[in-house]
Amino acid sequence: MERGIETRCLHLEETEQIIENFGAISYPIYQTATYAHPAVGKSTGYDYSRLQNPTRERLEKIVANLEGGIDAFALSTGMAAITLLMEIFKPGDHIVSEVDLYGGSIRLFDNVSRKNGLEFTYINCSVDDVEEAIRPNTKAIYIETPTNPMMRIADISKIHEIAKKHDLILIVDNTFLTPYFQNPLKLGADVVIHSATKFLGGHNDTLAGFIVTNNEKIQERLRFLIKTTGSGLAPFDSWLILRGIKTLGVRMDRSSKNALEIAKWLKEQDIVTDVFYPGLPEHPGHEIVKKQARGFGSMLTFRVDTEEHALGILEGVKMIKFAESLGGVETLITYPTTQTHADVPEDVRLKNGITPTTLRVSTGIENIEDLIGELSEVFANL
Ligand SMILES: *Cc1c(COP(=O)(O)O)cnc(C)c1O
Repeated sequence: MERGIETRCLHLEETEQIIENFGAISYPIYQTATYAHPAVGKSTGYDYSRLQNPTRERLEKIVANLEGGIDAFALSTGMAAITLLMEIFKPGDHIVSEVDLYGGSIRLFDNVSRKNGLEFTYINCSVDDVEEAIRPNTKAIYIETPTNPMMRIADISKIHEIAKKHDLILIVDNTFLTPYFQNPLKLGADVVIHSATKFLGGHNDTLAGFIVTNNEKIQERLRFLIKTTGSGLAPFDSWLILRGIKTLGVRMDRSSKNALEIAKWLKEQDIVTDVFYPGLPEHPGHEIVKKQARGFGSMLTFRVDTEEHALGILEGVKMIKFAESLGGVETLITYPTTQTHADVPEDVRLKNGITPTTLRVSTGIENIEDLIGELSEVFANL
């Protein structure tokens, strides 16, 4: 029987007692660029760290196991992961993509991938008919669920059915819910993307990204590409992410519990006009998340009545930091209009609902009374 996910964050499937690395409980950082060969034609299994490094390999095995993939690739950032993945396509290929993606992904697709000959159609995967956007040259569907920052939910199994019918690769960016709460590969996806800078690392101190797959052809192509393009994660950063993942379960449990409390509190405030948190029963994606995930995560977005109030909140917070990024132990508040989604054209941004009164919160693991206490004070002083 497969071990529980909390255990798999710490251990690979050791089936016998093996004491390696002098018994070190913390996996060593193999800070080496190259490896000596015992003889001509013989290798220790490692030749050069651009191809593979033991620390990175350990991390890739842990992440592949958590997502239920046959292989995982650790890259220097989430964007490096998405950039590498785009290399499996060729000029003329078309991708149907969720429109409310992480802003950096849209920037990559529109400014780099298009230049390389790829074509994109952006749709709202939670309401639009995905099938209608498919063309003869469509090769993949690219989604995020929940989306960033509007927290819209796509039904992964339903989109998988469409992908299967048209022989398309289904790619899911699983950064927000992490393998602790959601496993897209088990719901039919072929590729999972992570910005490990966020919850997997968990401490706002390292950048990293992953591609995970259960498709042998994609795996083979990506092994060639990571060796060729050289954006694999460095040994020390691999170790930091390994360490971060050890506490993924307890962090996700606490931060998602905090997020629900903040969402409920926000709903009661006069100046708050909308709260987008899939854990609220009235959220349109609530039932789908309950079906396809084990938790609602710790990201939430809300709108206030005026831009002045939105800016006042950003300027009023003290312990909660006004900062880009998400998924760390510290609570952060972000202004998508000028930060994460600044490069998304204004009309697209507004159409997605990202107004100048929209704020995004990445809930951390602080004491909930301290978090609500600070928000109460900030709101009272507006
Ligand atoms: C941050 C983020 C990325 C990009 O990851 P980096 O590690 O910042 O390069 C991609 N997707 C999502 C959903 C993100 O939040």
